[in-house]
Amino acid sequence: MKRPELLIPAGNLEKLRTALLYGADAVYVGIEGMSLRAAAAEFPMDNLETGIREAHRHGVKVYGAMNLFARNDDLQRAAAILPELEAMGIDALIVSDPGMIRLIRQLTPGIPLHLSTQANTTNAAAVRFWAEQGVSRVVLARELTLAEIAEIAKEVPDIELELFVHGAMCMAYSGRCFLSAHWNRRSANQGDCTQPCRWDYYLVEASRPDQPLILEEDARYTYLLSSKDLCMIEYLPEMMAAGVSSLKVEGRMKSVYYVAAVTRIYRQAIDAYLTDPARFRVDPEWLEELRKISYRDYTTGFYFTREKINEVNPDVNYWQTYDMVGTVLAYDAENSRILVGVRNGLRDDDVIELLLPRETITLDPAAMVNETGEPIKAAHNGYRIYLPVTVEVPAGAVIRRKMKK
Ligand code: SF4
Repeated sequence: MKRPELLIPAGNLEKLRTALLYGADAVYVGIEGMSLRAAAAEFPMDNLETGIREAHRHGVKVYGAMNLFARNDDLQRAAAILPELEAMGIDALIVSDPGMIRLIRQLTPGIPLHLSTQANTTNAAAVRFWAEQGVSRVVLARELTLAEIAEIAKEVPDIELELFVHGAMCMAYSGRCFLSAHWNRRSANQGDCTQPCRWDYYLVEASRPDQPLILEEDARYTYLLSSKDLCMIEYLPEMMAAGVSSLKVEGRMKSVYYVAAVTRIYRQAIDAYLTDPARFRVDPEWLEELRKISYRDYTTGFYFTREKINEVNPDVNYWQTYDMVGTVLAYDAENSRILVGVRNGLRDDDVIELLLPRETITLDPAAMVNETGEPIKAAHNGYRIYLPVTVEVPAGAVIRRKMKK
């Protein structure tokens, strides 16, 4: 069995550092103007070299997404930045467009190529075809079952396969969709999806615009276009047995808290399995932890059946029981305390927890003091406060709060 890498999204330098702290084997970043995500999720070029250097220091790889459906002018811009990316030491580029592949092979043949899930690869012959074009890894289409994936892996053992293990799903086949372009003039195919599939829809008869018909799926509602979120934490042995090289988490637009929480739980679970596969048991705590981030109902997607992935719970928009309070800026060993950058107002009666890579520690906000050491009852966004701790804490660790009902 291959030891799969845990591949984590890094929307910016802070998220990259968070992924490193909580145990990623590799991270992927959006190359400015070249990825299938909105500009907000792209990694600023002027920080990328720093990010790559820090990641390499931790033995972590950095992949750059250049997986837009390129127009001619996109290729011209790509040509201008490829030498820079190579000089920075990017470990691979994620691509979907044959023209982009050809360009990279010509200009920077030393950079490995990973084929994006956007290219819709669903069989072993297609994997072989892409390998012949110079691709060393294929991110398979999300619509395949694990049985199909295992069959493909057996036929192409020399080519790396990557699968999504966690995160948002898309109702459109491999994300090819015009809904966002239609409603908001922001196209999913240019990396700018605004997720209007999550909205509510009605059927309206032209002469009775005030009498919409609810498209019923159960007694009250439908979420026909809206997908649940993928979560495979309970099925990691099955995913690894399928023969994949990389387990990928979705979400470059997601928060630092999401990166911390998801990375550390999948790290713990993968390590537990690899340490002793025969005695491996799914720890119910893992799923509980993944329910402490913002999520829609979870699904195993298409991995076991070609089941529906749309949301059917009429009361669900997003579940969220915890939010992020802030991050640790520094550990003061002499005084056994941490300096915290508050991002989301903290009160002395909040229930807060510090996330360490391997454990969760309850903190006492009633003991908070400001930077000059005076006790305070509340800290607003932007405050820097001290909290007592009994263990050494790495900078960048995330503090979360149980949300009040
Ligand atoms: S609108 Fe929804 S279905 Fe369409 S690309 Fe965006 S996430 Fe996918």
